[in-house]
Amino acid sequence: MSVFSIPYSGHYLIYAPLADYTALVNTVAFEQLRKAATAGTSHLSSALFQVHQALYDTLHLCPGPKSGSFAPEFVGFITTRGCNMSCVYCDFHAASTNMDSVSLRAAEILLEWTAENLKKREKKLLDVQFFGGEPFLPIKQVRVIIDNARRIAKAHDLEVHFGACTNAAFGVETARWIAAEFDSIIVSLDGASEIQDSVRPMRSGGGSFATIDRNVQILTEGSLEIAIRICVTQQNVEKLSQIVEWMCRRYRPGIIIAEPLKQSRQTPDSVAQRADPEIFIRQFCAGHEIAQRYGIELGHATSQIDKIQASFCPTGRDGLIIDPDGTLNSCYLLPQDWRNEGLELEFGRVSPLDGIQIDMQNLSLIRQMVVGNKPRCTNCFCKWHCAGGCHVAHTPPDSSADYSDVCIETRAITLWKLLKGLGREEMADAFLKHPIVEDDSVLTSAS
Ligand code: SF4
Ligand code: SF4
Repeated sequence: MSVFSIPYSGHYLIYAPLADYTALVNTVAFEQLRKAATAGTSHLSSALFQVHQALYDTLHLCPGPKSGSFAPEFVGFITTRGCNMSCVYCDFHAASTNMDSVSLRAAEILLEWTAENLKKREKKLLDVQFFGGEPFLPIKQVRVIIDNARRIAKAHDLEVHFGACTNAAFGVETARWIAAEFDSIIVSLDGASEIQDSVRPMRSGGGSFATIDRNVQILTEGSLEIAIRICVTQQNVEKLSQIVEWMCRRYRPGIIIAEPLKQSRQTPDSVAQRADPEIFIRQFCAGHEIAQRYGIELGHATSQIDKIQASFCPTGRDGLIIDPDGTLNSCYLLPQDWRNEGLELEFGRVSPLDGIQIDMQNLSLIRQMVVGNKPRCTNCFCKWHCAGGCHVAHTPPDSSADYSDVCIETRAITLWKLLKGLGREEMADAFLKHPIVEDDSVLTSAS
């Protein structure tokens, strides 16, 4: 179990994420609950006894590292590292001119292997994801992989799901084909033309907005689940809530995701800089309220309070992603990016000659990359939702134990959501005047 206490405005928020329980109590009640955690419950009033029961009466185990045989949840294809755009904040610049694509035979072998692995585990769904670079640049390869995946899924009596992360800067025909063939898609778009065209121009010159705008309209016409991902920088943070409203009205996507620019030690010094955390927090929360009025979720990856996880992403959860060079990795970043941070996220290889090789020793090291092994997160009340965030950009092995800007944002947005969830609207709004969570502590620690 893990129970946290967060002092705020003369009260304490008591939070048991693994029990999905939150309570707001005054200082006297807090002291009594604290005493009960070690000295029994005989001194508690009946109301406080109920709170204590809700916090402790069910055994809520902390999620830990995966064990057993390799059990991927999806198969991911980096069809190319190449890209047709030239975003000012992109740290893939050197790689994005390399248009090498994944070998189709290797892709087929991997699909066969994954389908068999799923059947052995009595799973019903073959989930196929595409990443880049821009994954739809080698469109012929994507079409062949899709055809093969459908055939292989049918042969193994599996359902099949196709998803991709894309810049959506492709032709009309491709947009229509994706709308017909795919089940879900994440499109990166930072705002209307004045922002998008200045921060995310085409590699060949000129703006990207007009093409992407047309394609998002095509993609939203069908039954495809569409998410729009906004990279938030100094350039667009002040307008974030307006951008969210504009996207809700113009595109009606299933979800909008607002992510502050991810900065690692490898990110280039570019004209786009990370946004000020406090401005981001206020704009995000304002945008969240606006999106809710349209029945649309505004997502923020590290503060999803309905999600309990030990690792933030596929890394640590048997992520299976094939690079154009045939290596099997648990992260879609460039190997040099994670190696520069002291991480080894490659665990195998697939080739037409030798088939699939998996290095279980390295896979078990990758599986240890869970929040329980991240010193910074030990006492943080967000740990079971955020799980330390990106292993490469945010909490690599020698990262500081101090809270970063990402932590400040995650902790504030999480607390704001918890106060809102308790119906404490005024308190939640007042918190945004100085949205910093300073003194959370562990009432009862993990076991
Ligand atoms: S300390 Fe930071 S990285 Fe760790 S769980 Fe908390 S917010 Fe996330
Ligand atoms: S380690 Fe970071 S970049 Fe890699 S998959 Fe996880 S969140 Fe994404």
